[in-house]
Amino acid sequence: MEAMNFNFLCDEPPPPSGASVGIVGAGPSGLAAAGYLSCLGHAVEVYDKMPKPGGLMLFGIPGHRIPRERIEAGTLRLARRYGVVFHTHTKICCSAPLFEEEGDHFCNEVKGLGDMVKKHDAIMIATGSWRSRRLDIPGEALAGVFSGLEFLFPIRAAHYCAPGVKAPDVAGKRIAVIGAGHSAVDVAHGAVALGAAGVDMLYRRTRTEAPCGSLEIERLEASGVRWHEGCAPTRILGEERVAGIEFRRRDASGVALKSLPADIVVTAIGEVATPPFAKELGLESVRKGEVRWLNMTAIENVFVAGDALTGPSKIGKAIYSGLRAARSLGNWLELKAENRQTEFAGDELISREADRFPGGSFKDAPRVRGL
Ligand SMILES: Cc1cc2nc3c(=O)[nH]c(=O)nc-3n(C[C@H](O)[C@H](O)[C@H](O)COP(=O)(O)OP(=O)(O)OC[C@H]3O[C@@H](n4cnc5c(N)ncnc54)[C@H](O)[C@@H]3O)c2cc1C
Repeated sequence: MEAMNFNFLCDEPPPPSGASVGIVGAGPSGLAAAGYLSCLGHAVEVYDKMPKPGGLMLFGIPGHRIPRERIEAGTLRLARRYGVVFHTHTKICCSAPLFEEEGDHFCNEVKGLGDMVKKHDAIMIATGSWRSRRLDIPGEALAGVFSGLEFLFPIRAAHYCAPGVKAPDVAGKRIAVIGAGHSAVDVAHGAVALGAAGVDMLYRRTRTEAPCGSLEIERLEASGVRWHEGCAPTRILGEERVAGIEFRRRDASGVALKSLPADIVVTAIGEVATPPFAKELGLESVRKGEVRWLNMTAIENVFVAGDALTGPSKIGKAIYSGLRAARSLGNWLELKAENRQTEFAGDELISREADRFPGGSFKDAPRVRGL
């Protein structure tokens, strides 16, 4: 099985540059940045709160879409051949309270961004989107209500690396899944695979408007999932535990209040970006490109990449973002070493990059077939 090659820009590890870079987040954007920066000879340390590097590629997306072995072989190559150090179970904290973001319960060490800034010459934040959106309707706090990531993480973690963690007990139960994006689709497939008695998927628009695409809905229907469109949830029913879901249904004959029985409700309506410090990093300016150095935050040696900057996207986009941010960080470090970091010498740096990685191009970045 072909490894995801994050070091595609160099065939051999280069001599050490003497600079040290800390990367927060080992998803596709952080790993792509680690590959780029280790190919420049920088000493790279990657911090992640989860038990293994891979981010949502490992803990969100089902293994049949991205084989876990490909990700593991790629990260092993980064570590063994290019000396990248992975600090797992380690959270870099944080503007939100600890345990508010998905996956926080896996972390057993917390470090401050201030310590990182002191330890490393530069930092890259690639922490993705790890807080699930809420519906904000009555009944959301009932037992048996999960967010998409709350439902999916234990399935992957139990399977891959945390034997103490149990996959959700859905066998013989009726599951209602709200949403029609990546997470909702994976939750529905996961529920079928775990032996649910029935899976109902509710979406507020039509199948042609569903973010997952109508082909994916046909696949779900073929596996037995019932698709309900034009449905806006109004209340989760039940006393202490979930008993059903009430929703407003719009169709050609008008709007009606309906309900479905359910033992488990999964609200998979998307995630929001979770950089460890949102305000202090001035991400709005970075998004608008109002910065001297591409992807540099309001803190001079701290850069940002991937879904943490853009909000939920796709693996390919996160990898590209990580590479661009790493290039900018690498250029900044190089000019800083010459005490010229206040001038921006874009052309000069890009031509130096061409010398450094002859024949190497972002086009060769790791791909995930079909995604
Ligand atoms: C269920 C699901 C299915 C998806 N399916 C697809 C698909 O089929 N195709 C596709 O292209 N895209 C898919 N996506 C989207 C894709 O996974 C993301 O766009 C991509 O993984 C983002 O990469 P990233 O590196 O920016 O962040 P992530 O992959 O989210 O990685 C971020 C990493 O940062 C770590 N982290 C977060 N906060 C901290 C902190 N404070 N300290 C330390 N570590 C931290 C996390 O543990 C994680 O490992 C899916 C997403 C989900 C949720």
